[in-house]
Amino acid sequence: MNVKEYITTAVFLMFFIGAASASQVNIGIIKSKEQEWRLTYQLSAPATKLAFVRNPDDSRTTRWLPVTPGFTISIADGQEYLQRDDGARFDSVTVRLTPTYKHLSKDYAPFSPYSDGGTLIYTGRLFACINTCEGNENQWPVTMQVPKGEHMLVNGKLYPEEAAWVDSNDGMNVYVGIQQPVETENVWAIIDAGLPDNIKQSLDADIPELMHYFEQRLGINHGQKPALFASYANVDGHSSQGGTLPNQIFMHWNLNDLGDKVADDTFLNNTIWFFAHEVAHLYQRSKKAEILGSPNESWLHEGHADWLAAKALLTLYPQTTPYVENKIVRFKSHCAAGLENMTLRSAADNGRFDLYYTCGLLIHQAIEEEFKKHGNKDSFSAWDDFRTLAEKQGEHGATGFLNVVKANTSEAFVAKITSFITEQQENPLQALDLLNAR
Ligand SMILES: [Zn+2]
Repeated sequence: MNVKEYITTAVFLMFFIGAASASQVNIGIIKSKEQEWRLTYQLSAPATKLAFVRNPDDSRTTRWLPVTPGFTISIADGQEYLQRDDGARFDSVTVRLTPTYKHLSKDYAPFSPYSDGGTLIYTGRLFACINTCEGNENQWPVTMQVPKGEHMLVNGKLYPEEAAWVDSNDGMNVYVGIQQPVETENVWAIIDAGLPDNIKQSLDADIPELMHYFEQRLGINHGQKPALFASYANVDGHSSQGGTLPNQIFMHWNLNDLGDKVADDTFLNNTIWFFAHEVAHLYQRSKKAEILGSPNESWLHEGHADWLAAKALLTLYPQTTPYVENKIVRFKSHCAAGLENMTLRSAADNGRFDLYYTCGLLIHQAIEEEFKKHGNKDSFSAWDDFRTLAEKQGEHGATGFLNVVKANTSEAFVAKITSFITEQQENPLQALDLLNAR
């Protein structure tokens, strides 16, 4: 990423709602008292291979070690497979997992370790299908066992030693360890005790404030109280990642010098921005429908979350104004440089997902400015309208959102936005200025 953020990625993936279909694959996870993680797949009928729902890279081939003799994990056409070396059928296989942090581009980390030995494990990483994933498999029975004295937090419930549930959609993060969740007014929190004090204080004070801020403006009833996970691996690394899943918000720091970094104001401001972005995602969601579009439309939710983060910081923490203004200036040059030789729509295919944050913020800023000229709409109420439209009429993704914009601005303005997103810009900086032309 060209923008010098300490946050490498903040992922927000689609909440898949489709015709639910059982996967025919049972998932068993055992964490031994020797801290070894074993994963067993039990198939409903013998098959020659297992495929995975999520294939962000080829790291299963090195981080998953078959324990059952005669098995290999291979990759073909971007899809990882678990199969026997002799090609014969099987109905059960066990692999050993590497329980350390691994950054996965545009996906959630498989493990987010805590400094006291606890960890989050992301279940969506484990979802597998017989032969191939067709896209309609959506139910995985999961069992998990952890050593005596440890517990699991699954779907807001604490289980000692053993748990069983049916997992679905994008999966979830399950906490495994000895730390007790702390219930606050807004969340169930499991915060790494090893995090520096000012980060812990910020989590305690800022997250509830941000949740309150977004709840008032994007108003959504979660039903269940969300869980907040903050983990700190305190290892040699330079990565931080956060994300949201339904009723979960999580952040992980994979660094060993966090204690020094927190002395720096910019780092603390980046941290609050990071929190605000993730909390915004939590309130963007719809309980009823898939509202987002394809990855190449990610300017929609990533840009919106960043723009809302800017608005939240300016309102709740006015002392961050120079930081926010400076960031927007840097976003402009980052976006313009990125669009010199690609369209925003093609950024995802060119490995430039980062442009959806910077260009996306500028698009949402321009839209909000345009709303001001036309009436009462703002970035919050427009999102609410968009969500309702997606839920009631299935008009989701960028098209659905831009229809809401069109209804509240003008056809010419939406044409300008669309051309900015889809066409190669001869002069990206000028094009950005034009978006905000008065
Ligand atoms: Zn995000």
